[in-house]
Amino acid sequence: MNYTKEILEEFLSSQNEKKFKATQIFEWLYQKKDYNFDNFSNVGKDLISKLKETFKVEFISIEKVLEGPLVKKFLFRLKDNEKVEAVLMEHDYGLSVCVSSEVGCNMGCAFCESGRLKKRRNLETYEMVEQIILIEDYIKAKVSHVVIMGIGEPFDNYDNVINFVKIINDAKGLAIGSRHITISTCGIIPKIEEFMNLDWQVNLAISLHAPTNELRNKIMPVNKVYSLDKLIDTIKKYIQKTNRRVTIEYVMLNMVNDREIDAINLSKLLKGMNVYVNLIPYNETAHIEFSRSKKENVIKFSNILKKNNINVTIRKEFGGNIKAACGQLRSESD
Ligand code: SAH
Repeated sequence: MNYTKEILEEFLSSQNEKKFKATQIFEWLYQKKDYNFDNFSNVGKDLISKLKETFKVEFISIEKVLEGPLVKKFLFRLKDNEKVEAVLMEHDYGLSVCVSSEVGCNMGCAFCESGRLKKRRNLETYEMVEQIILIEDYIKAKVSHVVIMGIGEPFDNYDNVINFVKIINDAKGLAIGSRHITISTCGIIPKIEEFMNLDWQVNLAISLHAPTNELRNKIMPVNKVYSLDKLIDTIKKYIQKTNRRVTIEYVMLNMVNDREIDAINLSKLLKGMNVYVNLIPYNETAHIEFSRSKKENVIKFSNILKKNNINVTIRKEFGGNIKAACGQLRSESD
């Protein structure tokens, strides 16, 4: 279902039906998980026929599941036989799913597996919602956290991603709290601004990965369009407007961005900002020119940030051994 509550409400109003029926329809779809309109016992027969004429319910399916300790990786088949993946992680605070937002990705980050395949299309809203619904069905438990950090650039598929968040966040939808949802972007500035103006409590994470334009240009082509200095200004505006802390993602690439000088430059760049830096151990892929940073260098890097009063954590690792890294399962199955 691509339809948010607002879209359903508009439809109901146009049919001279009561708007609150949207809530009932949401309950059937997302809480009772009944997709057969004929079963909607509190919805009148006439409205049911109108719903059937207007709204189609389409499905994706689970193609493959790989299981590791505390992690399950799902490969989904879409109706046009494209494939995307999602990862379920068991944290001490709950169950979190990392969803994909596009088939492929056009951002072309040099170290990332997803971008090996150019974007073929956006994911529809329902294709994102169903990644979670199918996982919940499979594990017979509720997902508590969602991160939009799978294949794709969510802000390159802005409208569908925003509708997805509305549906999973709706109390009668999947009821996942705003603060339990995170959107991760490589830094599409106009969309960060649009997102900021929604004034939501949803978390924003920025894939920064380099403390200077020179280095960022080399590993993230998006920086040639939206440069680091402008991105930092936008993040500052975002923090001021929303009063929310922003996550800075920084993937640790051996001898590329993990040197002492990089840690010093990053500290200067982020000085005084309400951010926390998440150092991501690199999952090695077919991009042989990149390798993961040595553990002692990650710790050294982290200590330099701490010394400069920057909040920092080292991301816990899940599933490196089950090809949970960004796009690996899919590119293998292609
Ligand atoms: N396009 C969005 C979201 C998808 S990528 C973004 O750029 O934020 C999610 C995160 O995983 C990004 O920070 C990305 O840079 C990082 N990433 C990509 N390939 C990786 C790899 N092989 N190992 C570790 N992190 C990786």
